[in-house]
Amino acid sequence: MKSNRLFEQLESKGLLLGDGAMGTMLQQAGLTDGGAPELWNVTHPDVVRGIYQAYADAGSDIITSNSFGGTSYRLKLHQLQHRVFELNYAAAALAREVAGDTRLVAGSIGPTGELLEPLGPLTQAEARAAFAEQAVGLAAGGADFVLIETMSSLDEVQAAVEGAREGSDLPVVVTMTFDTNFRTMMGVSPAQAVQTLAGWGVQVIGANCGNGPAETERVMWEMAQARPAGVVLMAQSNAGLPHWHEGEISYDGTPPVMAGYTQRMRALGVQVIGACCGSTPEHLAAMRGAMDGPALADYAPDFVTAAPKPATAATDRREARRAARAQAAD
Ligand SMILES: [Zn+2]
Repeated sequence: MKSNRLFEQLESKGLLLGDGAMGTMLQQAGLTDGGAPELWNVTHPDVVRGIYQAYADAGSDIITSNSFGGTSYRLKLHQLQHRVFELNYAAAALAREVAGDTRLVAGSIGPTGELLEPLGPLTQAEARAAFAEQAVGLAAGGADFVLIETMSSLDEVQAAVEGAREGSDLPVVVTMTFDTNFRTMMGVSPAQAVQTLAGWGVQVIGANCGNGPAETERVMWEMAQARPAGVVLMAQSNAGLPHWHEGEISYDGTPPVMAGYTQRMRALGVQVIGACCGSTPEHLAAMRGAMDGPALADYAPDFVTAAPKPATAATDRREARRAARAQAAD
């Protein structure tokens, strides 16, 4: 029997607020470049719990587990590949403590970091097994659903969806990253993503990370046009674009910018709205306000209204006549 908590909450609340960045928050807390974020679930549980709690206090309905790099392939970079169950279990269990009964726990699964055959060394079966192993730990730790995120290859998504289903009974949610001219790095368009994933029975589909709220809006607009009936949309944009300044990375999306993005996602019919890199509990609190406040009175995406109307000889003549009339009236 699949857990229905995600769909129950979607039904009862209509809109769900996701949460924000984990990686950039851990770096602020002292995680160094070479460190494994997932190891902090057991070495620094208070820090991880504190970040979860800050998002809960900001009003997030979903707490995302600190397990993005929790496949054996990613953990191998830190010689932690034999601790997949332990680190994923701890990530979800800490989130469950904070989420309690009222909030949801998303069990985060990110890419393996390896290319799949025929482009790279990883077979579909190996990838599927690695994702299944991770999903077992997330489910045991108490996740309500699996969140497969920041994906760029549909082959890898397929392995992750199948692996998550093999390792758990949890609903599977997928968000891909469209950061290369409104496509994923592997060339997948938003329409292709939503249609392919819906065909695999994934019910909640969207975009995360990427190039900030303006590009995410365009991506979600395209996805909304192509969405098959019954699919729920989800968006978790970065807080603007990253900038390097004196060796420090910062993001230019302020809390008011992210509040505006939340309003625009609502207008597009996106039901699960959160943030990604560079966001903080402060951003999420502003987004909570935007989610609970009135909807936009009217919404016209800039990229649609700004598109030049095709000029025809007839409209040109009309324009010329109008200009002539205006001058005559002067
Ligand atoms: Zn991100």
